[in-house]
Amino acid sequence: MSPFCASRRHSGAVLLAFVLALSCAPTLPAPQAADAERPAAPATPTEHPEHVASYTMRAKLDPALHTVHGEGTLTWKNVSHSPVRELWFHLYLNAFKNQSSNFMRAPIGGFRGAIVPTDWGTIDVKKLSWTDGATTHELWDAVELSRPDDPDETDARVPLPREIAPGETVTFAMVWDDKLPQVVERTGYDGSFHMVGQWFPKIAKIEDDGRFAHFPFHHLGEFYADFGAYDVTLDVPESFTLGATGPATESKVEGGRRVERHVQADVHDFAWTAWDGFQKRTETIAGVTVTALYPPGYDDLAERELATMRFALPHYGERYGAYPYTVLTLVHPPATVPEAGGMEYPTLITTGSPSWTPRGLLTPELVTIHEFGHQYFYGLFASDEVTWPFLDEGLNSYAEAEAMAKWRGAGSLMRMFDIELGDAEGHAFRGNMFSKDEKVAQPAYAFTTGTHYGALVYGRTSTILETMRRVHGDDAMRRALGTYAKRARFRHPRPDDLLGAIKDELGERAAETLRVALMEKGWVDYAVTSVASAPVRPPAGLFDRGGKRETVPADSGAKGTFEGWVLVTRRGTLSFPVEVELVFADGSRKREAWDGIAESVRLPFHGTSPLRAVLVDPDARILLDEDRTNDFATAPKASRAGAGRVLERATYWAGLALGAIAP
Ligand SMILES: [Zn+2]
Repeated sequence: MSPFCASRRHSGAVLLAFVLALSCAPTLPAPQAADAERPAAPATPTEHPEHVASYTMRAKLDPALHTVHGEGTLTWKNVSHSPVRELWFHLYLNAFKNQSSNFMRAPIGGFRGAIVPTDWGTIDVKKLSWTDGATTHELWDAVELSRPDDPDETDARVPLPREIAPGETVTFAMVWDDKLPQVVERTGYDGSFHMVGQWFPKIAKIEDDGRFAHFPFHHLGEFYADFGAYDVTLDVPESFTLGATGPATESKVEGGRRVERHVQADVHDFAWTAWDGFQKRTETIAGVTVTALYPPGYDDLAERELATMRFALPHYGERYGAYPYTVLTLVHPPATVPEAGGMEYPTLITTGSPSWTPRGLLTPELVTIHEFGHQYFYGLFASDEVTWPFLDEGLNSYAEAEAMAKWRGAGSLMRMFDIELGDAEGHAFRGNMFSKDEKVAQPAYAFTTGTHYGALVYGRTSTILETMRRVHGDDAMRRALGTYAKRARFRHPRPDDLLGAIKDELGERAAETLRVALMEKGWVDYAVTSVASAPVRPPAGLFDRGGKRETVPADSGAKGTFEGWVLVTRRGTLSFPVEVELVFADGSRKREAWDGIAESVRLPFHGTSPLRAVLVDPDARILLDEDRTNDFATAPKASRAGAGRVLERATYWAGLALGAIAP
């Protein structure tokens, strides 16, 4: 899902506040230089996932009635260790059936539950049958569509006439009818534009213990499924252009209808789009056939989105393993339905942004790279998006910010009016606002508002990982996430897989820091709490020398050297190694490294120039730092010249412009 979608109602205000807060900020220093070691790009895996749920389907679109008639088969294998007595199917179009659905009942405010579709959507299963030997069982006759205490119809239970044993593979025949809603968020129609996602009866993911991971449709979590092979024949009017998961292996026009067969293995979902207004551009990028489908007048944006993929395909391949599919389709929905934009499906993503988006505002690039990143975190890794959303949206937001910065530098979010804003800094601004409210690592439905979900899952996870990248170095972080990616591919990873990869590559302390940051609302604030600087003088007072008592005044006999100390405090429950920069009156600077483990450190100095200022974390590596205004302090003139112990503060951002205080 788009980084702008999770809390759409607030994203405009947040972006504006962010722009205002940073509009006078100097350009942040570049992240820590890469360490000398060779980056360990994940090898290209040749493995394939076990096919657990494979579908062969035929879908016929009536674009006037906005209906899809579907027929087909599901071949399913019980890969658990237990016999299975029931099946669970997700019927997610029913989320848009009425206001009693789980989706429509979501609390108003931050969530999208307040939106009322102007035309409702449904999926009606007509038949689910199982021919077992000589007997055909009509399974749908016994379906439990909803629970007695919950009228939601998106999570259906189907009892079985006999157990399906571990290792047994069975095939079910299905017939169903969809009525697409007016686009509510991801799926539906607008005029003759049709975005068809969550459109077929989809079996829930089976877990090792024989339990199905099934969920009612919740707008912040819908994807968690088993891999399989999809063979889908789409049937639309001849004038329509199709886009779908997987390559078109057959295409023909007959009787005024366009019929395309799309086949794709090693995926866990299938989505498609059909519109008689699509413009089309196709280009081969890094061996992948990339197709842009977009509305008339959007040629510039299509070019920007393709340019994004020219960077992103090789970049993500290096970091997270090769993109294993031969096609990728970028769907830019018409301007009337921006809600259909910013979504991810296997080999098909929807992008967004108005046609007039200025070149200095990089939302088209950012949404494209974000949705493409999901091909890894949602697609290839296929973590449980409902229970651990940070493993998908969070890691993906980090990857997006990392990629955008690598590609577009400091202005990776915006470069306009002499202002450069970075995507990572945008995530930090948003994520740090709610760091003490709720944990990052919690299920999607447990967040109190969509704003919290967006800030913590997208913003905070990205900021935690970006802080680790800046602290440990680019190559170390590449190795860590490369290891995670290699282990996670096709394996439905869990939080321990991420923590394990971080521990193996960055060490125990880094893994523990990550755990506390994600699971315990960990936070950190480095502060310069005290600064002292004074000339070195001989001891003052009364001295008995050679039989005489001499008075040495306190202000005499300066030797031209200065000494003092700086006290830096680490507040909060997280710790990172950090640097402290001392700026002296003669313009010289000295950096001290602090391991950041203790709660504070007193750093003494001795030199030929008085201390003028102190800055903790001068390269802004600790993007998690809660309060930048206390990262900087100057020693007042009295302190520099004499015995003053008074701390003078300046704001961080003014202070970062060290030219203003250096001679
Ligand atoms: Zn997303």
